[in-house]
Amino acid sequence: MNKTPEEIIEEMQAVAHQMILDDLEENPDLEFEYFDCSCCGKSKPYAGSIKYGEYRLCNDCVVLAETGFALGKFNDVQVLIDAMEDNRLEEICSFIKNEQNCNTELN
Ligand SMILES: [Zn+2]
Repeated sequence: MNKTPEEIIEEMQAVAHQMILDDLEENPDLEFEYFDCSCCGKSKPYAGSIKYGEYRLCNDCVVLAETGFALGKFNDVQVLIDAMEDNRLEEICSFIKNEQNCNTELN
């Protein structure tokens, strides 16, 4: 049952991608809706975003958050948001994704 971090990341990316498709199927207008992500601070598509308490995270950040949860790196999205605010993006990326290059993906 033990999955490697790589497998978990792939799974989370697939789940997150499916969330975008589901959101768009439910509400096609969402394709043109943007919001400012509470985590990365970028203007991101509403489709595939998730609300965690008072924060709404974009799909990319959802992958980071869910992967972090799944790997037991943290259990509160606040940890991820604080890390992002400190501009420790690269650090948290390597911390969550190990050797995977996430800079290209996040920019
Ligand atoms: Zn984000």
